[in-house]
Amino acid sequence: MCGIVGYTGTRQAYPIIIKGLKRLEYRGYDSAGVALQQKDAVTIYKKKGKVADLEDNIGTSNVAGTTGIGHTRWATHGEPNDKNAHPHYSASGKIAMIHNGIIENYAQLKSELSKKGYTFKSDTDTEVLLNFIEEIKTNNECTLEEAIRIALKRVTGAYVILLIDNENPDTIIAARKGSPLVIGVGKGEHFLGSDASPMLEYTKEVVYVNDYELAIVKPDELILKNLGNEKITPMYKSWIWNWPL
Ligand code: GLU
Repeated sequence: MCGIVGYTGTRQAYPIIIKGLKRLEYRGYDSAGVALQQKDAVTIYKKKGKVADLEDNIGTSNVAGTTGIGHTRWATHGEPNDKNAHPHYSASGKIAMIHNGIIENYAQLKSELSKKGYTFKSDTDTEVLLNFIEEIKTNNECTLEEAIRIALKRVTGAYVILLIDNENPDTIIAARKGSPLVIGVGKGEHFLGSDASPMLEYTKEVVYVNDYELAIVKPDELILKNLGNEKITPMYKSWIWNWPL
């Protein structure tokens, strides 16, 4: 089942993401990774093994940044190794994406992209979907958000995806179908998780995202839309959970 975590706000994202990934370890996984928004570029660190192995590997590298996403992978397409670990970069290197789930029609999409000259650095269905999104963005000269909506109408399978890109430095775009996604609402900050455990000590206010919904998440703003670009009013809920902190 594996897990996803995201943060955008004013705190350092990396420690929040690592702690959140450790809380999601109970779901099982074979590799882990993070992507951080740094100045005008997205930096990715990823590694086969445990979250602790990822931390060791990162060592004293630069992990500064107040927007980021993190992933634990349970391999379905491509063996567990460093190159197949998430996040993945898009072909241009400008977008990073994590994904839990399976893109069932990835082979069809991959062959369409290959005919257009795309090559792939991993064996995952995830990288195919990411490049499919970027191809739509470039072709249609549209926003990333629009490109994701168009792409997801063609996708069959189950997913929760989180994307960051260097054109919108403090924004995380998320979407789901058939995999869980919770957004924690703080003051000038938002948390994303496969469940509420990564955001336990920061907020008690959460929004559960439903299938076929897209979340545009900024520090001060949470917008939910359906794939038809209609806004959906978020249902804010409070929860009480006795998690051993
Ligand atoms: N299908 C993707 C992969 O194999 C995501 C697996 C997952 O849910 O972690 O990389």
